[in-house]
Amino acid sequence: MKALTWHGSGKIQCDTVPDPAIEEPQDIVVKVTSCAICGSDLHLMGGFIPHMEKGDILGHECMGEVVEKGSAVKNLKIGDRVVVPFNIACGKCRMCKNELYACCERANRKKELQVEAYGYALAGAFGFGHSAGGYSGGQAEYVRVPFADVGPLKIDNDLSDEEVLFLSDIFPTGYMAAENCDIQTGQTIAVFGCGPVAQFAIKSAFLLGAKSVIAIDTVPERLRMAKKNGATTVDFDKGKVREQIRELTDGKGPDAVIDAVGLESHGAQGTMERVASAVKETLTSSERTYSLNEAILACRPAGIVSVPGVYGGNVGPVAMGAFMNKCLTMKTGQTSVRKYMPKLLKMVEDKKIDLTSVITHRSKKLEEGPELYKTFRDKADGCVKVVIHP
Ligand SMILES: [Zn+2]
Ligand SMILES: [Zn+2]
Repeated sequence: MKALTWHGSGKIQCDTVPDPAIEEPQDIVVKVTSCAICGSDLHLMGGFIPHMEKGDILGHECMGEVVEKGSAVKNLKIGDRVVVPFNIACGKCRMCKNELYACCERANRKKELQVEAYGYALAGAFGFGHSAGGYSGGQAEYVRVPFADVGPLKIDNDLSDEEVLFLSDIFPTGYMAAENCDIQTGQTIAVFGCGPVAQFAIKSAFLLGAKSVIAIDTVPERLRMAKKNGATTVDFDKGKVREQIRELTDGKGPDAVIDAVGLESHGAQGTMERVASAVKETLTSSERTYSLNEAILACRPAGIVSVPGVYGGNVGPVAMGAFMNKCLTMKTGQTSVRKYMPKLLKMVEDKKIDLTSVITHRSKKLEEGPELYKTFRDKADGCVKVVIHP
């Protein structure tokens, strides 16, 4: 089959690789009908995530048709249409029993790598390197899905792939980011970054009762999209972000702030960022803290900083003094996607949200994947979200 594979920093290829097969009784094999490129795939492409090996198949946002199943699979049959969440979880450990699928204790096949980095092992993930279990991803014609009775969501309605594909990651991730803000009706939420997850965080914040959402970015089409979703936009290249946010909130600051950017944030306006840049030059930290620190500084005292943005290792200086003295709370984590899927599918069915609105680029050929990765990375050609229908 054809698949998009990693070959070192900046190098994505479309290779011909062996078809996946059933390895465990709880596996299914899915014929991928749609897959997407995610912002976090760019962290892999950029070489920011450790434990990648040449030839690893990428992709953690996919859906398709069940074409093979293991003997122990009970909930799915051949021909079923499924959306596959990006986490791989066992469904039986104490974390899974509490719907904390992202923290599954059993599904990661290479626990030792995460124990070393984080103290404990976390769930597996598709196409996210060997510290996430080394599972092949779904930017391919076929993908093997372990623990098939736990993760995949069966789609029984006639909604198109594009209407439900993002239940695999970015809608639940944007929704959880907003939910983590504990929004009280009438509150104001600020969102750093206007990528696809941020767009769904903006929409979710309104669905959860926010009165206003302030969205910060500098890419014109992303800001336009945020505005269309109801946000008041701030261009970080046009004046100091903190001052603009203060003005927009009558000097009080937003009740919660979402860092939907993560480790590759750009922008260098404050002292913290200059210090971070300097440290980055001299130490090994590869992760930028601009967005995280701006989120901490923009938030009102006693507010919440919600971080769906991805970080992998240690980051440079964090504004811990501001964080502590302002009595802030931080909520973060990889999304336990399966927990949110049924509820969010219902929202899609009820037309409360249109997930197709973020798609700017489509292709029917995996061969075009490597070029589309570059277009997405460079935010060229107005690219916000890429979907491939292999
Ligand atoms: Zn993703
Ligand atoms: Zn588990």
